[in-house]
Amino acid sequence: MVDSKFDNLDGSFVPEDCRSIRKRLSSSLQPELIVLEWFRLQREEANGKNNFIENLSAHYREGLKHITGCPMCQEWLMASLPPEKIERQRRLAQYCCSGFFCAVEEPKESGEAKIRFSMFRGEDPCWGIGKRWSFLKFCPWCGSKLPDSPFIAEDT
Ligand SMILES: [Zn+2]
Ligand SMILES: [Zn+2]
Repeated sequence: MVDSKFDNLDGSFVPEDCRSIRKRLSSSLQPELIVLEWFRLQREEANGKNNFIENLSAHYREGLKHITGCPMCQEWLMASLPPEKIERQRRLAQYCCSGFFCAVEEPKESGEAKIRFSMFRGEDPCWGIGKRWSFLKFCPWCGSKLPDSPFIAEDT
């Protein structure tokens, strides 16, 4: 029996290089991580910064780049998780790390204090913990400098 998890959903022919890239990525990374790193790569390519993909060898990057240029593999990747998980990874990829993401977007699940962004007195960017004005400047989890605006604009 062939590995049907590397097939296209519609049963159409999968070129050998697509199949081997899918296998290579899946052999050591969970679908959650492949999707996350792929979204991070999109972000990196959009803003020209290479500070988001950690510990990802050239081996995987090459595969992720292939997916960017291959609609068939993109469809395969997006079908690897339920839509709500894809959406979660898409949002997570825009944050500095998963710790901060959970504190902002998933306070209940993570048990962390909720961190939120607001403008102090309408003019100073402020990352506060709960209801306090705490002016966090750096992420408590990964140490990166926090941006002067939310990681994700309200309407996206
Ligand atoms: Zn492909
Ligand atoms: Zn962080």
